[in-house]
Amino acid sequence: MNSVHAYAAQEAEVPLAPFQIDRREPGTDDVEIKILYCGVCHSDIHTARNEWGGTQYPVVPGHEIVGKVTRVGNNVTKFKTGDTVGVGCFVDSCGRCDNCKDDLEQYCENGHTQTYNSQSQDKKTITYGGYSSHIVVTQHFVLRVSDKLPLEKVAPLLCAGITTYSPLKHWNVKAGDKVAVVGLGGLGHMAVKIAASMGAEVTMLSRSPSKEKDAQELGAHHFALTTEPETMKGLANSFDFIFDTVSAKHDYNDYLPLLRTNGVMILLGVPPTPSDVQAFHLIGGRRSIVGSLVGGIKETQEMLDYCAEKGITSDVEMININQINEAYERTLNADVKYRFVIDMASLN
Ligand code: NAP
Ligand code: ZN
Repeated sequence: MNSVHAYAAQEAEVPLAPFQIDRREPGTDDVEIKILYCGVCHSDIHTARNEWGGTQYPVVPGHEIVGKVTRVGNNVTKFKTGDTVGVGCFVDSCGRCDNCKDDLEQYCENGHTQTYNSQSQDKKTITYGGYSSHIVVTQHFVLRVSDKLPLEKVAPLLCAGITTYSPLKHWNVKAGDKVAVVGLGGLGHMAVKIAASMGAEVTMLSRSPSKEKDAQELGAHHFALTTEPETMKGLANSFDFIFDTVSAKHDYNDYLPLLRTNGVMILLGVPPTPSDVQAFHLIGGRRSIVGSLVGGIKETQEMLDYCAEKGITSDVEMININQINEAYERTLNADVKYRFVIDMASLN
């Protein structure tokens, strides 16, 4: 065991503060990583504040991790000391079920191990995330990161990037498809960039008039304010896909009528409370409402390679770890352009 510096929430209502955690000594298949950068996802806030229930304190959030390999176990063939690597939202799974065999570890039938606040496959240890100086991860769940792109801007790809790339691929979004993205935050800005890079015609649906210019710079072709009922009415039957990235409770029935026949609304955001869906919006137009959770390891590598080739990164605001509580408040106010990333050098 190695004791390392971290930042943790000790309770839902208490700000995050310095904390020491134990990391295991690297086993034969393990990669030990010194963390350089960690993105701040809204899921970190939901979890730190126990908004979804089930948070086990102390919790060390963080699942958008980029760093350098410091040590590897004897069986590790994929990585060597000094390599630049990434770790995303999960760090283990059973490896035996049909989904694991199909490279869909995020849907492991026996329960995947998330990067933080999750049971390890030994069913004993609780995982601690990337707001820490080091992490130890079994090699299958470690991603290769190109040194071509600025690493702090790559970190958010490990969650916000793959969470938007995976459904774009799964639903085969292609050039000319009309795509709406709801909510211009961490996930939303990656959805706009990646969908536009695939040739889709992208409309940003936001509550925030101040984000119109940014949306266009990110690659959106159109911008509409969801707070204007007339604008929303005018968009009826417009989109093949709606990517909903909103983190707080909102009415799905406001968006379903915007889908064309056979249109699909893909829920990515996870508001803590359930919502009603009016069946008429689905049956009229054979529309569907679906969800998607991050993406498997193979697809995450594919996404990182795609982004490296296309020069796609996240727009980030850098913070020191002692600014994390302020960053949470600003994220809750939708006041971030468009992802906070912690410079982990500030932890020491
Ligand atoms: P974020 O950066 O806070 O962005 C959320 C955006 O939603 C805001 O920028 C805002 O955009 C909009 N919004 C916020 N409150 C709203 C409200 N009350 N009504 C309408 N719109 C509102 O969050 P994020 O990191 O992108 O995460 C978004 C959600 O996805 C979270 O619930 C997170 O837990 C979830 N998530 C899911 C997955 C997955 O695998 N499915 C992965 C990661 C995260 P505007 O200002 O443009 O309106
Ligand atoms: Zn996330």
